[in-house]
Amino acid sequence: MELKTLSDLEIITTSNSKINEVDFENLTFGTVFTDHMLVCDFENGKWEKPVIKPYAPFLIDPSAKVFHYGQAIFEGMKAFKDEQDDVWLFRPDENFHRFNKSATRMAMPEVPEDVFMGGLHKLLEIEKEWVKKGKGNTLYIRPFMIATGHGVIAAPSQSYRFMIILSPARAYYSGEVKVVIAEHFSRAANGGIGAAKAAGNYSAQFYPTKLANDQGYQQIIWTDDATHTKLEEAGTMNVFFRINDTIYTAPTSERILDGVTRKSVIELAKKENINVEVRSVLVEELIAAAKDGSLKEIFGAGTAAVINPIVGFGYKEEYFELPKIENSMALEIKEKLTNIQYKLAEDTFGWTVKI
Ligand SMILES: *Cc1c(COP(=O)(O)O)cnc(C)c1O
Repeated sequence: MELKTLSDLEIITTSNSKINEVDFENLTFGTVFTDHMLVCDFENGKWEKPVIKPYAPFLIDPSAKVFHYGQAIFEGMKAFKDEQDDVWLFRPDENFHRFNKSATRMAMPEVPEDVFMGGLHKLLEIEKEWVKKGKGNTLYIRPFMIATGHGVIAAPSQSYRFMIILSPARAYYSGEVKVVIAEHFSRAANGGIGAAKAAGNYSAQFYPTKLANDQGYQQIIWTDDATHTKLEEAGTMNVFFRINDTIYTAPTSERILDGVTRKSVIELAKKENINVEVRSVLVEELIAAAKDGSLKEIFGAGTAAVINPIVGFGYKEEYFELPKIENSMALEIKEKLTNIQYKLAEDTFGWTVKI
């Protein structure tokens, strides 16, 4: 895929880089940002000229609709540096298209490809020193859009701001993850906004996740809202179950976000001759498999952690510990996928895009 470049982009650089103050060995995920950001405003029915400028807070009217009605969407992507000091993106077209799908669902304007892709390309060229070499080092990319229009009338905003900010990160490790299966709360419902990367989907998860944390679980396995019998996602990740030597994941739907990592895991597993089945897995199936020993692994899949192995799950009053296994499919798939991302293995899928 060719990235489009922008001819009409204003660039204001800082001569005061923070890079030497950053301890790249000890980064807390998503807390340090690079020197520059991309900003593009939508006013009077059209996108204005995008600007790359020094990272800084900005003024916004207290009545802006983002504060009152949560008209806000985002994406999560990563850049990687290979041994030749080239910077690469992983399937960025998927994030771009999903971003505009989310925009449509939230009654927001679509962002043009030259602003999103061309802007990202330029921003990464400027910030390439922030992408560190070596497996485990990445630059997390956060494109987002907020409704900036004034007035507390409950109607879509007329003005929007699209931005891209960048955060250096180490491989995300969340420790041993225990999950609890949701019996009451839901992440998404048919006809709702669960398939969009809308900010409100996340705030709606915070309270049930806090209750789960109080019970000793790090995350929730979300079930379908109507019956709570189908296993759908794990926290903010798609979820896979390995029963015997087959891995299962639910089909995407209005309740299940179409994750780039999820679809990459499926394609990669198929190529490695691992049996993959895309179908709903029922809570009762999982419990039966845990009891008879055929349940080998559960793992989450998402950009930040790539693959996140789960050590056990709770359901009603019971806790089921997963077996410690030698040949983890989750870790094998993670290794293969990250080798492609860091250009340590040949990318036969054409997923990687050079900056
Ligand atoms: C972002 C997200 C994912 C993972 O998507 P990736 O494209 O793999 O990062 C999964 N579930 C939800 C709810 C998400 O918001």
